[in-house]
Amino acid sequence: MELTKTKTTPMMVQYQKIKDQYPDAFLFYRLGDFYELFNDDAIKGSQLLELTLTNRSRNAENPVPMCGVPHKAAQNYIDILVDQGYKVAICEQMEDPRLTKGMVKRAVIQLVTPGTQIDVGTQNAKSNNYLTALVYDTDHQTFGFSYADLSTGELKTAKLDNQAELVNELVSLQTKETVIDSDVPNTIQETIQKLGILISHQELLPVNASVSYLSQDVDSGPLKRVVKLLLDYIQTTQKRSLQHLKRAVVYEPSDFLELDHNSQYNLELTRNIRTGKKSGTLLWLLDKTKTAMGGRKLKQWIERPLVNRSKITARHDAVGVLLDHYYERSQLQDELIKVYDLERLAGRIAFGSVNGRDLIQLKTSLQQVPKIKYILEQIADDSFKEILQDLIPLDDIVDEIQDAIVDQPPISVTDGGVIKDGFNAQLDKYRDASNNGQKWLAELEAKERQVTGINNLKVGFNHVFGYYIEVTKVNLDKIPENRYQRKQTLANAERFSTPELKEKEALILEAQEQSKTLEYKLFVQIREHIKKSIKRIQALADSIASLDVLQSFASISEEYRFVRPTLTNDHQVKVIEGRHPVVEKVLGHQQYVPNDVDMGQATSVLLITGPNMSGKSTYMRQMALCVIMNQMGCFVPAKKAELPVFDKIFTRIGAADDLISGQSTFMVEMKEANDAIENATPNSLILFDEIGRGTATYDGMALAQAIIEYVHNNIGAKTLFSTHYHELTGLDETLKHLQNVHVGATESNGELVFLHKIQPGPADKSYGIHVAKLAGLPNGLLKRADHILAGLEKKAEGSGSGDHASQAISGQPQLKHSRKKAAGEEEQISLFPLEQVDDNQAEVVSQLK
Ligand code: ADP
Repeated sequence: MELTKTKTTPMMVQYQKIKDQYPDAFLFYRLGDFYELFNDDAIKGSQLLELTLTNRSRNAENPVPMCGVPHKAAQNYIDILVDQGYKVAICEQMEDPRLTKGMVKRAVIQLVTPGTQIDVGTQNAKSNNYLTALVYDTDHQTFGFSYADLSTGELKTAKLDNQAELVNELVSLQTKETVIDSDVPNTIQETIQKLGILISHQELLPVNASVSYLSQDVDSGPLKRVVKLLLDYIQTTQKRSLQHLKRAVVYEPSDFLELDHNSQYNLELTRNIRTGKKSGTLLWLLDKTKTAMGGRKLKQWIERPLVNRSKITARHDAVGVLLDHYYERSQLQDELIKVYDLERLAGRIAFGSVNGRDLIQLKTSLQQVPKIKYILEQIADDSFKEILQDLIPLDDIVDEIQDAIVDQPPISVTDGGVIKDGFNAQLDKYRDASNNGQKWLAELEAKERQVTGINNLKVGFNHVFGYYIEVTKVNLDKIPENRYQRKQTLANAERFSTPELKEKEALILEAQEQSKTLEYKLFVQIREHIKKSIKRIQALADSIASLDVLQSFASISEEYRFVRPTLTNDHQVKVIEGRHPVVEKVLGHQQYVPNDVDMGQATSVLLITGPNMSGKSTYMRQMALCVIMNQMGCFVPAKKAELPVFDKIFTRIGAADDLISGQSTFMVEMKEANDAIENATPNSLILFDEIGRGTATYDGMALAQAIIEYVHNNIGAKTLFSTHYHELTGLDETLKHLQNVHVGATESNGELVFLHKIQPGPADKSYGIHVAKLAGLPNGLLKRADHILAGLEKKAEGSGSGDHASQAISGQPQLKHSRKKAAGEEEQISLFPLEQVDDNQAEVVSQLK
C-alpha cells in the first residue's frame, strides 16, 4: 500500500510511525469509540467495507482521506478484510485519554492475518484454519514444513521431499497463509501464490522458553527451524502467550495413505467440484458427528487415511462395538450433543478472550464427561481403553465455575452481572449498597407522586445525566419549583433532580462502579486459574472428538448398511456388491446397481470397457472410496469386502484441468500418469479413466497401451483402467494379470438402457453403431458403417492377429499388427508387445498342427 505522506498534526505523526511498521496491513487506529483508517488504507478500505470516505482536516492544503468503524462492530469489518486475504493491524489506545495530557500512547496489539484468524464463526466450526510455514534445506533440497491451528492448539511438523509433496500438504490442509524464510526458492514461492495462498515473511527472533518447550520433541535441524519460524510469526503477530499450543508433533506423510491433491479433488472427499461446498462429498455423507471437534477430526481422518494395520483394526473394532451397542450409542449421542467446542474454548482461555458465556459452555461440556465415561465403562470393551485414559473429568473446574459464574451471564465481562451472589463478600456488600439504592429510588418515586399528585411521575436513569425525576409537560405546574432542579428537556417531558437524589446517586454509582471493577478482577482470576488446566482440557477434547467420529461411523454404517472389511495380506481385493455411497444416496438405494470388484493375487489390471455414461468412472470412484473409507477406520458400502492396506492412490479421473499450472487436460493427464508410474508400488491403487482420449486416436491408444503394459509388467499395482479403445481388450491374451470387464447395456423399446452392471469380458465392439441407431441416424448411413466395420475386421483378421480391428481409416497413420520389417523400412508400431505377438502366433500355429 503506497502512502501519501502528510506533514501534519502530532496525531498523524504518531499514526505514520505505526503505519510504517505495518506497510502490508490495514491499520485500524483507535480514536475514542472508533477505529479510523487513513490515506490509502481509507481509500481501499472504504471500497472493500462499503464505508463513507471523508477527509480529516478538510480545509488544509493536504486533506487526509479517512474512514472509520465503531469499535464495537469492528470484528465484522476485520473478518471481511481478512477473509479476502488482507491483514489487519489493530492499534489501541494504551492509556486512558481522560487521565492523560497530550498524545495518548498507542500500540498495535494484534496483527490479524488469514492464517491466524480465530473467531471464524459457527459456519466454520467444523473445519480448521491452518497457518503453515516452510523452510528450504539447501543441503538436501528438501523442505521443513509445519502447521498450526491457533484456535485448537494443534502444532505439527514434517520433512517433505519435493514440491509435489509440498503442494499436497498445502492443498489438503487448505491453508490460507504460509510463512517462509528467505531461502525458499522463487519457483516454489510462485507455486504457492498460484494456489491462492498468502505468503508472509518472518525474521527469526532470539530463542525463548515457550518456543524451546514447544519444539522439544523435534530433533532435526530444518524442522526445528521451521517450527520456530512459525512460532515466531505467531508471537510477532498475536503478541501474546503461546500457552495453548500443544507441543510440536513430527509426522511423516508416509504414515498416511498417500493421496495427491488431484485425487482428493477428483474424488470429492471434502469439497464438491462444482460448488466448492461440503454437500455431495464423502465428508457430507459420513458426518453424523455431534460436536464441532468431532466434525473437524472427521475431516482430518478423511484427508489422512491410515496405513498402519493395527491402527485401522483398532478403529474398526471400536466402530463394531458401537454398532452393536445401539442403546449406549444413542445415550452417548445425547451427551455429546451437549459438549461445546472444548478445543476452541481452550484457545480462547489462553488468549484471554473468554467471557462468562464461554465459561458456562465449558462447565456444561465438562459436566458431560463423567456421563460419557460411565457409558463407555458400561460397554466395557478394550477398544475404548485409550479414549478412557484421557477422559478425566475436571470436577475442580466445574465446581469453580458453578460457584462463581451466574447461569446466564452477559456477553461483556466488564459491565457486571457475571459473578454469582455469595461468591465474594466484598462484592455482596457493593451489591447490597446498590440494591438498597434501587429500593430507595422506588420509594422516592412513590413519595414524590404522593407529594406532587403527579401519578405518572417517574424516576429513571441514563448514562449521560444519571438519575432523574421525569415529569410530563402537562404536569409541570404541579412541581415544587424550589426543590426540583432542571436537568434535561425532552419533547413532551422535563427531567429534574433534587439534592436528596443527587446525594444518593453518587453513592449508588460508586457502589456499581466498584462492583463492576471487582467483578472483572474476580473473573480474570478464575480465567487465569482455568488456564492452568488447558492441557487437560485439550486432551479431553481430543478423545471426545475421536469418540464422536467413531460413533458417527457406527451410525452411518447402520443407516447405510456398511460392512466391516477384512484386511488381506496378499494384495487380494474382493468386494461383493460394492456401492458408491454418495451416488447411492443421491439416486436412492433402489436405483443403485451394486457391483463386485474381484482382483485376486493373479489380477493386477482390470480393463473396463462400455459406452459413455454406463458407469465406468463411478465404478472406479467406488473402489477408491471403499479403500479410503476402510483405511479411515470406517466400514464400507458393500455386502462383503476383503481389502489389502494400500500405501498410495493415484487417480486420473474426470476432466479437471490442473488447478495450479493451468495446463491442458492432456498434459495434466500425462503428468498424472507419469506420477503414478514413478511412484506407485505393488501396494498402490491406480485408477485411470480413459487415458489418452485427449489426443489423436492412435497417439492416445498407443500411449494407453504402453501405460497398461508398463504398469502390468513393471509395477504390479492394482489398476483399474477404463477405455473406449475397444482394441485394447485383446491385451488379455498377452498380459496374464489383465482381466477384461465391461459395463452392460441393453435395448428396450428402441431405447438404450444402461444396466450399470459390471460383467466379465470386453464390451460388444459394434456398440457405437448401436447407439447411433438409437439416436436415430439414417438407416443408409448405419448400413454403411456396418459395412466399414466388417471391412476393418476382415483386414485385421487378414493381418493375422485375431479379431482386433486394426485401424485403416484413410488419412490416419496406419497401425499394423505384423512386425514384418524390411531392411530400411521403418519399424511399425505394434498394438501388442512384440515378443508376445510372436508367442501368440506360435500358439495359433501349434493349435493348427
Ligand atoms: P462413464 O464413466 O461410463 O461415462 P459414469 O460413471 O459417469 O459413466 O456414470 C454415468 C451416470 O450413470 C452416473 O451419473 C450415475 O447417475 C449413473 N450410474 C453410474 N453407475 C451406476 C450404478 N452402479 N447404479 C446406478 N446408476 C449408476
